[in-house]
Amino acid sequence: GRPGCECNHCFAGPDCSVRTPNCTADAESGNPLFLEPYWMRHAAASAVVFSGWHRMSYATTGGGLQSVELERHIRRLHRAVGNAAVDDKHLVFATGSTQLSNALVYALSPEGNAVSSSPPASVVATAPYYAAYKMQVDMFDAREYRWAGTTATWDKNTSRNSTGDFIEFVTSPNNPDTALRKPVLGGSSAIVDHAYYWPHFSHIPEPADEDVMLFSASKLSGHAGSRFGWALIRDENVATRAAQYIKTSTLGGSRETQLRILKLVKVILSNLHGAEDIFAFGYDVMRSRWHRLNAVVSRSTRISLQKIPPGYCTYLKRIKEPSPAYAWVKCEWEEDRDCSEMLLEAGIISRSGVSNEAGSRYTRVGLLKTEDDFDVLLERVTDLVNAEKHGQ
Ligand code: PMP
Repeated sequence: GRPGCECNHCFAGPDCSVRTPNCTADAESGNPLFLEPYWMRHAAASAVVFSGWHRMSYATTGGGLQSVELERHIRRLHRAVGNAAVDDKHLVFATGSTQLSNALVYALSPEGNAVSSSPPASVVATAPYYAAYKMQVDMFDAREYRWAGTTATWDKNTSRNSTGDFIEFVTSPNNPDTALRKPVLGGSSAIVDHAYYWPHFSHIPEPADEDVMLFSASKLSGHAGSRFGWALIRDENVATRAAQYIKTSTLGGSRETQLRILKLVKVILSNLHGAEDIFAFGYDVMRSRWHRLNAVVSRSTRISLQKIPPGYCTYLKRIKEPSPAYAWVKCEWEEDRDCSEMLLEAGIISRSGVSNEAGSRYTRVGLLKTEDDFDVLLERVTDLVNAEKHGQ
């Protein structure tokens, strides 16, 4: 049970343990509740309490808008996990990495006189991509930049086109298909979103060292509701412009959030490589889910999952089995029908590949929610696959 929880429509009761019969499995989102049991086990150690007079100021020690202590601990975490090179990077905090993706598009776009004299930057990504990048760029459409579609439509060997410079969004591991990716447009600015580059979800072959990298507490500790993300940025001017964007739009992130994340990172650090290592925990949960889902889907001739190669993880110091955050489902049947609609008929809500330009034969199924949610999902998938045998 989950005392004091927020139940979704499949569960009821004070601890969300009562199943609603025949409910639709909602696997649309990437809500990272799979880590909730970890924090239940560390309830006292991860608690934060502060009194009414505490942290009232806009400014932190030194006059900046972000906690120096949290900055130090995030750098320690990256060094300990070995997933990002931090020594030559500036660190910028924001309200989720969602705010940072827009801050970095702004920071990498033409500035000053260049805004009026040169064409806007072209923001691109390779399909299938995380659809929020396009939604943001379209919504905040500015003189400095505009959405310019997928990389497939541009020459891979040039960083410039007739209309201006590129800013390429790269997600690695990718959302939705979980592949490790690199920028494909040579010489362009890249914003590399490493939200899933933690040992829960991926092997860590080496520390990432791109010029602009995004990370998120949502997928590290599971605290999506705290709204905390950070960017590692090599160039000082780009970092200054990103920080200026944050300052102008919000005057900095919540101090309460920074205190909470500091506490969580301290707990994570103190348990690394021990019996309560959060990454070993997260990896076990996600690996087991993928294993169980694969066992069912491998019996199907109508749907298939992405293939994920195992890889050596420098953090776990062994070959890691796949433990992805999402299943990228391909419908092998009735080509003219939308895959997400077919799943919906089987009682599964997913995110259609139409949203990220992969097409209607693909759909994304989220694997990050609670164990109870995953059980409902697996039941629906099992029924779907079993129905094939009976010719339904
Ligand atoms: N980037 C990617 C690739 C994501 O999948 C998500 C969340 N689903 C985000 C960013 C958003 O993260 P945050 O909660 O930090 O805004």
